Amino acid sequence: MHELNETRSTCAYCGVGCGVIIEHDGTHISGVRGDPDHPANFGRLCTKGNTLHLTMTPQALAQRLTQPQLRVSKEAPRQSVRWDAALDHAADRFAQTIETHGPDSVAFYISGQLLTEDYYVFNKLAKGLIGTNNIDTNSRLCMSSAVAGYKATLGADAPPCCYEDIDHTDCLLIAGANTAWAHPVLFRRIEAARKARPEMKLIVVDPRRTDTAEVADLHLAILPGTDIALFNALLHVLLHEGKIDEAFIAAHTEGFASLKATVRDFTPAMVADICGLGARGTQDIITAARWFGDAPAALSLYCQGLNQSCHGTDNNAAIIHLHLATGKIGKPGCGPFSLTGQPNAMGGREVGGMANLLSAHRELANPQHRAEVAQLWGVTDVPAKPGLPAIELFEAVHSGQIKALWIACTNPAQSLPDLTRVHEALARCPFVVVQEVSAQTDTTAFADLLLPAAGWGEKDGTVTNSERRISRVRAAVPAPGEARADWRIAADFARALETRLKSRRSNYGAALFPYTTAEEIFNEHRASTVGRDLDIGGLSYALIEARGAQQWPFPAGTSVGTTTGTTTGTTIGVARLYADGVFATANGRARFKDVEHRPLADMTDAHFPLHLNSGRLRDHWHGMSRTGVVPRLFAHTPEPVLEMHPRDMARRGLVNDDLIRVTGRRGTLLLRVASSAAMQPAQTYMPMHWGGRFMRGLGVNQLTTPIADPVSRQPELKHAAVQVEKFPTGWQLTAARRDDVGSLHAALQPWLKRFDYATLTLTGRDTLVVALRAWGGVDRPLPSAEMLAELSAALGLDSHRAVTLNDTQTGLAKRALIEDDQLTGILLCNETRATEWLTDLIVSRGPTQELRNWLLAPLFAPPSFTLGLPSARGRIICNCFDVAEHEIQADVAAGLDLAALQKKRNCGTSCGSCLPELRRMVATRVE
Ligand code: SF4
Repeated sequence: MHELNETRSTCAYCGVGCGVIIEHDGTHISGVRGDPDHPANFGRLCTKGNTLHLTMTPQALAQRLTQPQLRVSKEAPRQSVRWDAALDHAADRFAQTIETHGPDSVAFYISGQLLTEDYYVFNKLAKGLIGTNNIDTNSRLCMSSAVAGYKATLGADAPPCCYEDIDHTDCLLIAGANTAWAHPVLFRRIEAARKARPEMKLIVVDPRRTDTAEVADLHLAILPGTDIALFNALLHVLLHEGKIDEAFIAAHTEGFASLKATVRDFTPAMVADICGLGARGTQDIITAARWFGDAPAALSLYCQGLNQSCHGTDNNAAIIHLHLATGKIGKPGCGPFSLTGQPNAMGGREVGGMANLLSAHRELANPQHRAEVAQLWGVTDVPAKPGLPAIELFEAVHSGQIKALWIACTNPAQSLPDLTRVHEALARCPFVVVQEVSAQTDTTAFADLLLPAAGWGEKDGTVTNSERRISRVRAAVPAPGEARADWRIAADFARALETRLKSRRSNYGAALFPYTTAEEIFNEHRASTVGRDLDIGGLSYALIEARGAQQWPFPAGTSVGTTTGTTTGTTIGVARLYADGVFATANGRARFKDVEHRPLADMTDAHFPLHLNSGRLRDHWHGMSRTGVVPRLFAHTPEPVLEMHPRDMARRGLVNDDLIRVTGRRGTLLLRVASSAAMQPAQTYMPMHWGGRFMRGLGVNQLTTPIADPVSRQPELKHAAVQVEKFPTGWQLTAARRDDVGSLHAALQPWLKRFDYATLTLTGRDTLVVALRAWGGVDRPLPSAEMLAELSAALGLDSHRAVTLNDTQTGLAKRALIEDDQLTGILLCNETRATEWLTDLIVSRGPTQELRNWLLAPLFAPPSFTLGLPSARGRIICNCFDVAEHEIQADVAAGLDLAALQKKRNCGTSCGSCLPELRRMVATRVE
C-alpha cells in the first residue's frame, strides 16, 4: 500500500485560477480538493475542478499520447519514433523551410493552456532564434479584444481589479459573461456577497437568459452586437443626471469631450430600440445607469460576449468608459474587470505570447522595446515585421505562404471560425507538428509529427489568473510514457534547430536555451519584467512557496502594506491598480475612445434570419480533450443541441429532439433542436465544445465567421447568421457499450461519418459507457444486416452470448450482451423508447432478469412501460451527489423547498455549480 501524498497546484481550466490540492501516491492521482488557503477560491471548486482527478483514471490515460509519432508522407500511417529522431526530423524540416523560404515561412500556434514558462520558451524560439513574429495563440480567440480595450483606454494590458472587489461592490454589472457556468467559483463569491449585502444590485447584460441573468436584479437582454449602443446610453443617462465625476475626468483623463458629443445622440429610447429591449427598455436603461451612478462602488465583469465581436475593442472601451466617467476605478469594489477564459491567458500576455507583442508588455512596433528584448535574450535582433494573428496565420497556411506549422496545446481544427477552410489549410500544409496531451483531437488528424506533452498534475511552472495572481502549478506524478513538459519540448527542439540554422542569431555565443528546470525560465522571464508595469522582480518560486500565490506588480523590495486596498490571506502584491489616478499612458491620463454603434459582420437577412450564438456549458471545457474523457461530465448536457425560442421552432414545425439542418454562409450542420426559455426570438445557441470527435460535422465553428475586430484581430465567434429547417428522419439507431479499457470512443469515431447524422458521447458515473446515436434521412434505406453485423463487431457485441432479435418487416433490430448477469452492451435499430432505460441499466449494472423477455418481444413499447421497470433519470443536475432532474422534479412536486431538497439529497451542497438551476427548478413549481 502506497502512502498518500498531497501536492498543491492550480486548476487547469478557467481563468479564475483556483488552488487545488492533489491527492496521489507519487504514481497515480486519486483525488483533488480545493485549497482552502488559495485566495482565488478559499477551498471551493466547481464541477470541472472537482473532477480533475478523473482525467487521470486508467481509462482516461488510455486516451493519452505517450510516444512521438511520425509519418513520412501525408498518405503514410504515423509510426512511433524516439524523441531524438522526432526532434531531428522536425529541426531538419523547419531549417530547410527557413533556409529556402525565409523565417516567415514557418509559424507557431500556441495556447492559453500553456504555463508561463512554456509560453516564454516558444516566444524566444520564434522571435529570438528563428527571427519570425509568426507566433500567435488561441488567446487571440478569447482575450485579444480585452487586451486592446485596456491598452486603448488605460494604457496597459492590466486588469485593475481583484476578486475581493466583488465583496465590496454596491453595483455589479456583468456583461457578455455567464459567470454561473463559465467562472462558477467567482459566481459562488457573488452569491455570498449578495447574501451578506442584499442591497447590492446585480445587472446582467446578455442576449440569453442564462443562469447568471436569471438571478439578476435587472436583465438587459440586448440584441447581439448592440453592447456599444447600450454602454453609450448608460453614459448618456449618467451625464444627463449629473452622475459623472467631473473632477476625476478633468484630473485623470483625456478625450471626454469628443465622446460626450457622441453619446448625446444615444438616448435611452433610441437605444432601447437598437438593443431590442421592448417596451420597458427605456426605463431599464435609465434604471441601470442610476444604479451604477448612485452606487458608491461599481464593478463590471465581462468576458467573451464583449470580446468575440468584430468591434470587440470598442465594446471593451465602452464599458471601461463608465468607470472612467464616474471615477469608479482603483478603489475597493470598483473597476472594469475582464475575466479571462483560459487558465493562463494572462501569463501568455505577460511574456508577449502574441504576434504583435513582446515580453513583459513590450510592443513589437517599438524599436527600443525590440532592442531591449534582443539584449535580454542575447540575439542580434527581434524582427520588426509584425507576425500574423491567428486568422491571417491560418489563411497564410492555406495560401502556401506558411509551409511548416507547429501547434502546441490547442485544437484549431475545432476552435477557429470557418472550419472548412481551416481544415483545408491544415491538409495542405507541407509539415504540421502537433504537441498534445490527447492522442485524438480534431487537429491531431492533420499532424505529420505528433509529440506527447505532459498534462495537468504532471507539469511544473506558473500561471496567472484574471486578477493578476501568479500561482504555482506543481507536478504530482510523472507524465505517462515518454510525454515531456511543453517548455522542455520547445527547448529541445530549439537546440536541435539552432545547430542546423546557417545564420546564427545569438549575440554572445552563449546557449540560448540552457534551461534544465521551469524555475530557470521563470527567473529569466522575471528579469525581463523589471521596470515594466508588471514588474515581478521581487517574486520567486521560493516566495510563492512560503507566502502563496501573489498578484503583480511585485517589484523587488515589495513588502506587506504595499497594497492599495484590503488584502486577503497572505497576499502581499498590489491588489488593485490606478488608486492614485495615474494611468499607464505616456501622460498618465486614461483615454476615452470615441466609440459608435456599428452593425455585426455577418448580418442576418431573409435567407439567414437567425442569430447563432456560441459559448460554454457548465461541465465541459473547450474542445473536450480533457473533460471529454470523464463520463459524468456529460450527464448535465449529454449531447449537442441547438437551443431555439419555442416560437421559432413552431414556425418551422419543429418539436424537441427533431433533427435540423442549420445553414449559414460558410456551411451546414445537422444536429438536434431543443426549445429553450433562455433564448429570445430569432436567436439560437450552440455550445462551443462539441467537435468532430463527438458528432458528425465540425461543430459550431463550421458556421462562424473569420471576420475580426480591426484592432484586436479577434474573430466574431459570438455571432453568425443562419437558417434552420427540419431534416426529416426515417430511422434511428442506438448503441451503448461499457468500456473498461478506455479505447472504444476512439475506435468508433469512423462510424460518425457513416450516417446522415450521429453523436458519439460518454455516459456513466464510475462506469465508462460509450454511446452512439445515429439517424438516417427519410429516403435512406435502413442499415443493412451486414452493416449491423460490422457495427456489432466494432462494439464487441458479436459474441455468441449476445441476444439478438431482427424483425425484417418493421426494421426492428435488437442486440444485447449480458455478461456476469449485467447488461454490458446494446445495439437497437428503430427502437427508440427504451434507449435511455437500457443505457441506465448498463451504467447502474442493474438486474437483468426481465430483460431477456423484452429483448425477444418484437414490441416497440419500452419495458418501463410494459414491465413496470424503472425509467430513465433524466439529466444529472448535481454532479457531486449524482442527483437527477426527474428526482428533483418529483421532490419539488411533492412540496420540497430548496432546503428540504438539499437535506434529502445533498444536491448543491458541495461545489454549488448546480445551485442556480436548483433554485430555478424549485421556483417553477406550480402552486
Ligand atoms: Fe477550475 Fe472551476 Fe475554479 Fe475555474 S472555477 S479554476 S474551472 S475549479
